[in-house]
Amino acid sequence: MEPRPIGMFKLVAASVLVSCVIAAVPASAQDAKRSIEQVTDDIYRFQNNFHNAMFVVTDDGIVVTDPINADAVAWLKAELTDRFDKPVTHMILSHSHGDHASGGQGWGDIEVVAHEVAKKNVEAGRVDTALPTVTFIDTHNFSTGGKEFELTFLGKGHGDDLIATIVRPDNVAFVVDAVSPGRVPYRDFPGADIDGLINQIKAIEGLDFEVMVPGHSRNGTKQDATDGRIYVEKLRAGVLEALKNGKTEEEIVASDLMSEYSDWGAYDQWRDLNIRGMARWLQETGKVN
Ligand SMILES: [Zn+2]
Repeated sequence: MEPRPIGMFKLVAASVLVSCVIAAVPASAQDAKRSIEQVTDDIYRFQNNFHNAMFVVTDDGIVVTDPINADAVAWLKAELTDRFDKPVTHMILSHSHGDHASGGQGWGDIEVVAHEVAKKNVEAGRVDTALPTVTFIDTHNFSTGGKEFELTFLGKGHGDDLIATIVRPDNVAFVVDAVSPGRVPYRDFPGADIDGLINQIKAIEGLDFEVMVPGHSRNGTKQDATDGRIYVEKLRAGVLEALKNGKTEEEIVASDLMSEYSDWGAYDQWRDLNIRGMARWLQETGKVN
């Protein structure tokens, strides 16, 4: 019986130590919910909390997209090493916003493909990530390991450097932030030119693809892009008409505008903010008078 209390003491001491170690890990890393989902034979979606990225396994290596952040890169790097015996060769940045583009240095010395303005935004210190090594203005195509990558600038709207990436022969598009399938737009359209945003979604609708992997929410199709554009156009028209009729922002929020979308994701959290953001953008850009 003698060793028992000593053993229990050791157990307690060890668990206290473990608790301290866990508590020292930053909450963001500790709580992050991450997963990998296969989209086609060679294309995968990586989810990190509420953000998605895509990666493509080619004959010559792996092409990753948005890093999201340094912890996400570290996690994905370990997963790719476990699952595939291939080097990461390229990273494609959808745009330079910090919640998608941060931490790209974690991939090491690889090709980084992005819009020319994204490189300027990285150089200006707007986001802490790897500096793009290949940039373009309108479109840029490249092939690696039997896959073709078609990159298209979507114009200004949500940011000034947003691109779509289409992978062939899979016909899968990676599209971030301009539209999120089955979900209302993010909050009050922070920083967006809303007419530019509508044009970005139209540009996406003009591309040739079958599956859309988005930066947020579930995977979709071109129909989801169309539905998302119609939402923004209905919101724009409804808010503009109400403002022209002398309604206040509060009165529009209290109306049933957009209620037919109540089954969309984040409707309860963001529908009111969508109206407020639209009302302010219409007023600030002189569309009401
Ligand atoms: Zn963004």
